[in-house]
Amino acid sequence: MTEATTVRPSNPPTTAPTIHYQVAMPKPQSHLFEVIVQVQGWSESVLDLKMPVWTPGSYLVREYAKHLQDFWVEASNCPQPLQWCKLSKNHWQIKTEDASNITVRYRVFANELSVRTNHLDATHGYFNGAALFLFIPGFEQHSIQVTVVPPKPDWTVTTPLPSVPESPHTFEAADFDTLVDSPFEIGCHQVYEFEALGKPHQLAIWGQGNANPERIIADTQKIIEVEAQLYGGLPYEKYLFLLHLSSGGFGGLEHKNSCSLNYPRFGFRAKDKYNRFMQLVAHEFFHLWNIKRIRPKVLEKFNYERESYTTSLWFCEGTTSYYDLVIPFRARIYDTKTFLDGLSKEITRLQTTPGRLVQPVSESSFDAWIKLYRRDANSDNAQISYYLKGELVSFLLDLLIRARHGNKRSLDDVLPLMWQQFGAREVGFTSQQLRDTIESVADTDLSDFFNRYVDGTEELPFDKYLEPFGLKLMGIEEEELVPYLGVKGKTENGQDTIVFVEADSPAGVAGIDAGDQLLAIDGWRVTTEQLSDRLKEYHPGDTIELTVFHQDQLCTFSITLGAFQPSRYQIMHIENSTDAQKRNLAGWLE
Ligand SMILES: [Zn+2]
Repeated sequence: MTEATTVRPSNPPTTAPTIHYQVAMPKPQSHLFEVIVQVQGWSESVLDLKMPVWTPGSYLVREYAKHLQDFWVEASNCPQPLQWCKLSKNHWQIKTEDASNITVRYRVFANELSVRTNHLDATHGYFNGAALFLFIPGFEQHSIQVTVVPPKPDWTVTTPLPSVPESPHTFEAADFDTLVDSPFEIGCHQVYEFEALGKPHQLAIWGQGNANPERIIADTQKIIEVEAQLYGGLPYEKYLFLLHLSSGGFGGLEHKNSCSLNYPRFGFRAKDKYNRFMQLVAHEFFHLWNIKRIRPKVLEKFNYERESYTTSLWFCEGTTSYYDLVIPFRARIYDTKTFLDGLSKEITRLQTTPGRLVQPVSESSFDAWIKLYRRDANSDNAQISYYLKGELVSFLLDLLIRARHGNKRSLDDVLPLMWQQFGAREVGFTSQQLRDTIESVADTDLSDFFNRYVDGTEELPFDKYLEPFGLKLMGIEEEELVPYLGVKGKTENGQDTIVFVEADSPAGVAGIDAGDQLLAIDGWRVTTEQLSDRLKEYHPGDTIELTVFHQDQLCTFSITLGAFQPSRYQIMHIENSTDAQKRNLAGWLE
């Protein structure tokens, strides 16, 4: 639709204009980045500028243009501002007349501290190019220079882009994709230099907390080595880990030569939290191959204006999630027990999400744009995360291949093959090509596996795949059993609200609704915190009277409680395992 309303000539201009961006932040506390785009050597009567609506790595239309304000255009040979109009939410068109040197100014409000947005305040500036820069359609392949103007002399600039000789604050990007793929950190952050496999790396940390840079660097070096060994080398000249320490944030965004990480500032001392951080590092680093270079066909060339649908995110994100658990284990950052406990936790998450039986993981991948990041009260009933199920499907594939080939082959062998066929050549893969590659390593037809567990919603048969390794999955019930009701609640502002009702559970069948305010069981007040303890007073088959406010109306429901449900699952060793099982297990985990 945007294209149809454009009056721009269909043949792109043949002369090559130069494109230069300047990013200033004279009043950082205002949260406003001031961007200037200078286009020199323009020879057409109109100039189109567009803002990306999403950023690669995060599959949601985020409408970055909503933060853009104060758009203004002038030409060097014209005393009056040039005329312009908007043709769509993210498309500006300028009537350039005879002007060849055009300056566009705009400001972008930046007050969202996440790896995929922009943040500017009195302490620092951070931007993700997709959320800041307008691009000129047809000129995405042209090289771009960016000059950053820090507001204070002691603010430095860190980015994976190379700086221009003699101009330390001017950086060069080979094209718009590279610009978008290169986050910027501006401020008084700490930068630590280190080497891994003979290549220079940086760890830049913004914010205060209990992170120990020496320990992080030592463990990161091990992760780099293990992952490089998996893929056969490092496909970059230098790499930047950019870490934001925040109050409660968690997230990462992968790039080709860098990653942005956001982690709780005091989340580095406790062993489990530190392990979770190293998993985040392993995850985003793994992406420099899987998704940044080994890309689904539809992401071979980014379309910044609309959704790009693929059924393969279960591999891009899920397999990466499996390896973010495997890699720190192989790097000896944690032990076998921690690794198996980590897998058990993920299995628990899957098995306690009813949506696993409703949405295939290939469909979850395809619908990422409208579902994963847009959760509502029904999400757990109707969908499954492609991260979570993709991780566990990858786990089963790894066990399947290992068991078939006595650990001489594994999912590890799929990765360098995908790298050689697609990643190194930067050619996108189709879902069929991905499956062909996995089948070639497994050396068997996996139609049945894919039909059931990737394109279907059958329960993952953990025991079948664990058994050759002398392992089994146990459903663990709490010590004091809780009869099954099927709700989750939350206390907010002193009110106890039901936030999730499991479909077909006793509560769901009775008519309890997400949003209902929890009041009483059998006439006695109950809070979210007390709910589980209060239910322990009853037995499966007992009927309770649950009182709630539903749409402001006082309602009491008679609910017959169901059978006890496992509250968690645990991978356990089979007693008296055979020598063959012991050999398999040792081959996998030692
Ligand atoms: Zn990821």
